[in-house]
Amino acid sequence: MGFWSRLVPAKKGFRRPNGQLPSNRELIRERDGRRCWLCGDRMHFNAPANSDLSPTEEHLVSRSRGGKDVMANTVLCHRKCNVLLGNRRKSEKEKMRRQMQAARREAWRGR
Ligand SMILES: [Zn+2]
Repeated sequence: MGFWSRLVPAKKGFRRPNGQLPSNRELIRERDGRRCWLCGDRMHFNAPANSDLSPTEEHLVSRSRGGKDVMANTVLCHRKCNVLLGNRRKSEKEKMRRQMQAARREAWRGR
């Protein structure tokens, strides 16, 4: 037990029992709370691949626009939402997100 390991407790679940670091995908799931970045609905991690609800990673700054494959540029969203976001600019994606989540709150209120 070194000095630093006592001061900075390892984040829960940060390391697997076998000592391996989890993948970026797992870290993103933990960070984003298992909800879709765009529509805010639950992610379905067991959804069949290539279905509307299968989980995908979206690069906010698209790879084609020079975005990096790093966690800060990556969010979790449904495949259908990933398709909606397409190759738009990050600012447009954020605008879509605000609109979708405002509509979502509105729908809840109307129940
Ligand atoms: Zn979604």
